[in-house]
Amino acid sequence: MRGRFAPSPSGRMHLGNVYSALLSYLCAKKTDCEWILRIEDLDRQRCKKEYSYQLIEDLLWLGLKWDNFSSLSNCGLSDEFFQSNRDSFYVKAFNSLCEKGLVYDCFCHRADLLASSAPHLADGRIVYSGKCKNLTPEEKFSFQKKQNPSKRISVEGCEISFQDICYGLQKCNLASECGDFIIRRADGNFSYQLAVVVDDALMGINQIVRGRDLIPSAFEQIYLYEKLGFSQVPEYFHLPLLLSQDGRRLSKRDKDCDMGFLRGCFTPEKLIGKILFLCGCIEKEEKISLEEAVEIFTPQKIKNEDILLHCI
Ligand code: GLU
Repeated sequence: MRGRFAPSPSGRMHLGNVYSALLSYLCAKKTDCEWILRIEDLDRQRCKKEYSYQLIEDLLWLGLKWDNFSSLSNCGLSDEFFQSNRDSFYVKAFNSLCEKGLVYDCFCHRADLLASSAPHLADGRIVYSGKCKNLTPEEKFSFQKKQNPSKRISVEGCEISFQDICYGLQKCNLASECGDFIIRRADGNFSYQLAVVVDDALMGINQIVRGRDLIPSAFEQIYLYEKLGFSQVPEYFHLPLLLSQDGRRLSKRDKDCDMGFLRGCFTPEKLIGKILFLCGCIEKEEKISLEEAVEIFTPQKIKNEDILLHCI
């Protein structure tokens, strides 16, 4: 059994990221799983090496050591666990989907799609209408002269469901609630959805603990598991989100919640205690060592309600 933490190094971690890291670690250790660290630095514009190293250092400060720790690498994580080094695996998966006839070129621009009357989902995505699915060869040729296409996977009339440990049964009709989705961007980069599935499957991950904002992604990911012929879909445990006082999701811009600030006011034990208190695993805020946290952690105590942060 294996769980994982798969952060994107697009800035310093904030309390929400550390909360996901700690809870994924505790869920793994509680169920005798290994805990794998994988750096999701596919977006070469937003992700920076220095953020990856900082993130690694912040996890070690908290005492979270991953089971794929490598003493041969200077940061404790070998290159194969950075998505930016894993294109060859994504190419293979992408080609296999193309061979199945599931992938088509899309020349639509995000701005046009957002301005269109297609249904917009709560998380800001739109349901793609399939506009480019049936372009004639002439239309395709004329678009191709002007721009590179992104690649979409066709979802057909597929109903996906899974049992989430925290949020219960989740269902989605991919065609009407999501639409054909992008698996490779026009700049050639693979999408998060494709990369995460390929990596989780090849790394033998069967327990996924992460924020509930990724529930909609889980449907697309399960669809890719099926189409790529990966037989074992992992178990999902989506976590309630930590919200700032004004009800927003914490972001890397909230400096008063970033690890630089937190490390100035908390010891690792105090921060672990704070997180366990926030998620309802302990009754009062107190210092807890990581070993004690593994002992007392009770996933069943985590409620499916977002957590409002009054003050740090
Ligand atoms: N890399 C994603 C993020 O940092 C999380 C991916 C996942 O847990 O599936 O938001």
